[in-house]
Amino acid sequence: MELSLDDSKWIKVGNDLLMPDIAALVRDRLEGRRGLSSTADAEGIGKMFLRQLEEGESPSTGGLRLSSSGKCQRALAYDYHHYKPNGFKGDGSSPIVFATGDILEMIIVTALEEAIIGTPLEMYYTGLNQKTVSLGVPLTEGRQAKVSGHPDGMMRVPAYNETLDEFTMVNLILEIKSMSDYGFKMFRKKGLTKDDSYFYQQQSYQLAMTQEGKADFNWSYVLAFGKNVTSKDCELEEDGSVTNLHPLVGGYLAGCDDTKREIQDRLREVILSDSPEEFPRVMSPATAPKKKGQLGFPCDWCSHWKTCWPTAREEVVSSGFFQRSNKLKLIVGE
Ligand code: SF4
Repeated sequence: MELSLDDSKWIKVGNDLLMPDIAALVRDRLEGRRGLSSTADAEGIGKMFLRQLEEGESPSTGGLRLSSSGKCQRALAYDYHHYKPNGFKGDGSSPIVFATGDILEMIIVTALEEAIIGTPLEMYYTGLNQKTVSLGVPLTEGRQAKVSGHPDGMMRVPAYNETLDEFTMVNLILEIKSMSDYGFKMFRKKGLTKDDSYFYQQQSYQLAMTQEGKADFNWSYVLAFGKNVTSKDCELEEDGSVTNLHPLVGGYLAGCDDTKREIQDRLREVILSDSPEEFPRVMSPATAPKKKGQLGFPCDWCSHWKTCWPTAREEVVSSGFFQRSNKLKLIVGE
């Protein structure tokens, strides 16, 4: 296999596997401005932002979507059984937040498309050509439900096995996320972990694509943009050296068969349930004196919290020291 990536563009993934450092390729293209070589569809990109002003598509199975496959099962059941949302509701800023995410996605996809010209990496099903994937969820007596989702893209990339001295091409799901300061720092340190709902989303996309039967998908690559990172941010290493922090980092996420089984089980249980009450709440009110009665994430962002916690109310809570901010928090009890 002819590979035209220099040594710095490979990263170790696991014990003996080297795969392309996709984030480094994108960063190089973003830093080296020049005329466009790819056939970016400027009109299509514009249409993508404007869709945020239009009505969204209805999900295939009740309110279930693969992007929510790691969400609280009780919340999934409220959606599936068509409970009217009465909790957290986005305001007029939501379309702008989503459009900002679309802009980020399109500039990164276009930079990546340019960066891989002349390399063995391939990218497809991005932007307006995103693919709808459907995960089959076996129910009873041979019946199965389909739950759909929209990965940001897909890629085929080379992987070099050092032990076998062998190159293979690997299929992967591509995901582009903008992250808050906390989320980004965690991602940079640990990548996606099972505590993160994106982990479930990625595993569900991999399984849906593998079920299609054309190729195995056992990898995802997540490109994360830290919304609060600037070019002045850096890390002081233990040996005293300074490492500049990039606002754009990436990480490979290997398939996890246990999680893929768990996702199908979680969705099946919701689809076969009679009521959301069959699923326990995922959290209890805080007991620490300063936060007594507070419910945090995910309940305070849940669109069904008023049904789930009928005695909860929103109260203004101040936090922070140098920069104090007021936020509405859910409180249960006195
Ligand atoms: S309020 Fe919390 S426990 Fe209830 S459905 Fe929503 S996330 Fe789940």
